[in-house]
Amino acid sequence: MKTGVLGGTFNPPHKGHLAAANAVRQALGLERVFFIPTNLPPHKRLPEGSATTAQRCDMVRLMTEPYPWAEFCDVEIRRGGASYTVDTLRALHESGEDDLTLIVGTDMLLSFDRSWRAPDEIVRLAGLAAVARGTEDFPALETKADELRKTLGAKVTLVQCPVLPISSTDVRQQGTFEALTPPAVAAYIRQNRLYQKVFG
Ligand code: ATP
Ligand code: MG
Repeated sequence: MKTGVLGGTFNPPHKGHLAAANAVRQALGLERVFFIPTNLPPHKRLPEGSATTAQRCDMVRLMTEPYPWAEFCDVEIRRGGASYTVDTLRALHESGEDDLTLIVGTDMLLSFDRSWRAPDEIVRLAGLAAVARGTEDFPALETKADELRKTLGAKVTLVQCPVLPISSTDVRQQGTFEALTPPAVAAYIRQNRLYQKVFG
């Protein structure tokens, strides 16, 4: 089955995640997209006042629920320890998923061969589909995509779609969850008083 994989901290999940996944799904004809919250993000520690892992999972479940193509996947949480995408793709492959597309935003494509574990193996296990996070991102994405094709033999697709320049950091720091997260996630943040320390 043609399956997309969108990994992230999802602290919290927001409309940019959903839009990126949906745009790649439509462009590449994916049948479903797995939203996979990291157990412990290898590149960063979660800031103080973050949602717990259970809460991040609840929010991803709530965000994906309305869409038949979107699935919450807890493979990284169940595996425990630091989450590395290569291990996740390997596990999915072993369970029979052999048509995988890894969905990434600008920051993740640009850092792909520098800060990811085993990028050469990742590109053998999955195609890459990148979505711009800012309106000025495209030239840098194109340069990087070419480089990864040449150096790693990666299959990279740049997906053009309306850019939603939002991040979980904005949501946490500015308290803009009502506008930037889907309604069910916004209700959850409100009810559980998440990120309150930051914006009072
Ligand atoms: P934080 O600010 O905490 O880093 P984030 O908004 O970057 O949060 P992550 O969970 O770190 O969200 O991102 C998961 C994946 O989704 C990454 O590949 C990231 O590039 C991508 N992504 C996040 N926001 C967007 C967006 N607005 N448009 C396109 N891709 C996005
Ligand atoms: Mg991020």
